[in-house]
Amino acid sequence: MKGQTIAYPIGNNLYLNVTNRCSNNCVFCIRNTEEGVGFNLWLQQEPSFSDLQAALAGAQHYREVVFCGYGEPLQRLELVKKTAAFLKQKGARIRINTNGQANLVYGRDITPELKGLADVISISLNAGNAAQYVALCRPAMGPAAYGGMLDFTARCRDIIPQVVLTVVEWPGVEIEKCREIASRLGVSFRVRPFSGTLKKQQAKP
Ligand code: SF4
Repeated sequence: MKGQTIAYPIGNNLYLNVTNRCSNNCVFCIRNTEEGVGFNLWLQQEPSFSDLQAALAGAQHYREVVFCGYGEPLQRLELVKKTAAFLKQKGARIRINTNGQANLVYGRDITPELKGLADVISISLNAGNAAQYVALCRPAMGPAAYGGMLDFTARCRDIIPQVVLTVVEWPGVEIEKCREIASRLGVSFRVRPFSGTLKKQQAKP
C-alpha cells in the first residue's frame, strides 16, 4: 500500500517493518512512545513479498538489514524467510529482532528454518524471572512465554552465528541477573537504554 513505511534507514542499517502484531504488549514498547523511531510505522496493510522486494533495491549496501518494525517480525515467519533468502542472494547481512516466542506461537521449533538466513538474532530477555517478564512484557501466553523465550534462545545458539539477549534499562530490572542468564546460555548480552516519552495512557516507570 502506498504511503506506508516498510523500510527505513537509521545510521548505516536498514530496518524492515513487516507487521504491527505482537504476542507481547511491553510497557516500554516503542509503539507506546510519543516519538516512535521518527517514522510513522503504523501499517494499514501488512506488506507483501513484492512490496518488500520493491523497497529493498540497494539493501546490500547497508551494514545490516534488520527485521524489526513496530511489532514482532516472526509473526510473519514465511515472509521473513522468503525476504531473508532474497536479501542473502544480494549479499546482505541480516539481523532479526524478536521477542523469542515464535516456537510457542507456531507450536513447533522454527529455529532450523532460520539456518543460513539470519546472521544475527537479537532476542528480548527484559527480565530476570517469569513474574517480572509477565509484569513488563504482558505476554498473551502468560508466564510460559518466559521459559519459551529462553528455550528459543538456546536453540538459536546452535543455528545462528550470533545470538544476543537484550534488556531495556527499566526501573526494577536486574541487569546483572539478566547478564548471568545470557552468560549461562552462552550468548551475547546487550543493555538497551529507554529514551522515549510514554504516551499519557501508559503506566509510568
Ligand atoms: S516485544 Fe517488542 S514489539 Fe512486542 S510489545 Fe514488546 S517491545 Fe513492542
